[in-house]
Amino acid sequence: LHARSALAAESIFSVMSRLAVQHGAVNLGQGFPAGAPPDFLLDALRAGAGVTDQYTAPAGLPALREALAADLGVRSEQVSVTCGATEALHALADALYGPGDEVLMFEPVFDVYRPQAQLSGARPVPVPMTLTRDGWSPDLDALERLVTPRTRALLVNNPHNPTGHVFTPQELARLVDVARTHDLWIVADEVYDELYFAGPPTPLRTLAPERTFTVGSAGKRLEATGWRVGWVVSPVGVSPGVSGLHQWATFCAPAPLQAAVAAALPVARARDFYGELRAAYGARMRLLASGLRALGLEVQVPGGTYFLTALAPGVDARRLVEEGGVAVIPGDAFYAQGAAPEGLVRLAFCKPQEEILRALE
Ligand code: GLN
Repeated sequence: LHARSALAAESIFSVMSRLAVQHGAVNLGQGFPAGAPPDFLLDALRAGAGVTDQYTAPAGLPALREALAADLGVRSEQVSVTCGATEALHALADALYGPGDEVLMFEPVFDVYRPQAQLSGARPVPVPMTLTRDGWSPDLDALERLVTPRTRALLVNNPHNPTGHVFTPQELARLVDVARTHDLWIVADEVYDELYFAGPPTPLRTLAPERTFTVGSAGKRLEATGWRVGWVVSPVGVSPGVSGLHQWATFCAPAPLQAAVAAALPVARARDFYGELRAAYGARMRLLASGLRALGLEVQVPGGTYFLTALAPGVDARRLVEEGGVAVIPGDAFYAQGAAPEGLVRLAFCKPQEEILRALE
């Protein structure tokens, strides 16, 4: 009980959202869109009302597995639907890591990866991303050095939260090479796959189909983070039991929401909804970046995600939300103790333009 309770502390995202509400602050902290999901998603939910209200199979509603297979260019048997990408990552941690295993993950690291590895008894091993004047870059020599006989998996978030880095094809080729040489699983958290501002990210499963598990999220894609519909795409013929483990946690994801996502996925493609999102978020990203620069901050322009990082030395995130009326995520939340660059903060720009302007003010 004691060992587990250390992992049960409130996450930084919940803390900052709670403080934002408490102090009436603009919330550029936790990454969720401020507005409603698109009408075509809500219409699909209404149209399906009453049709599917009971359990689905743990692997997911067949219509959703098929819609995902078509969207992602995989087979429906490869798809396991979960309660959000967070549960997808948790089921993979359960399935793939055991006591004494080591899991490589790029640092700064999204906050769920470390505790999930630890809950499986594995050791999270941070691989540094370095910050220079040109932005963030993964230290791939360090990656190679940090592999040991206990290394089991490489957890890659692309586009990367919190830095916004989109791994180049060369970087991905090198990752795959390390994974193949040392026979590691690759867990590719690609929840921001449609949110990029330069070139699109390359899905890791296309480079290493035999060893890559892809994690995705309807919440991120369709602006409905509270719906908790996510998925895992496993390699063909490899069944690590994701749906089997998911059945013991939640049995299945909410049926009506699965049905609505199944109907909405092809509509999103047909209408170029993701292209519209990229245009809208790209404009807000540039607004926030130029505003922060005008305030004298050093800003790292993201290649993807709806976050950017900036250096604001001397800014205390807790005081900023209490006294300055703006919630951000302090950079040290993404590091093992002590290693964050001085003054690093993460800001979300998936918020209305007026709120971004108010935050800058
Ligand atoms: N993905 C969201 C973020 O990075 C938060 C998810 C969460 O709160 N677990 O802000």
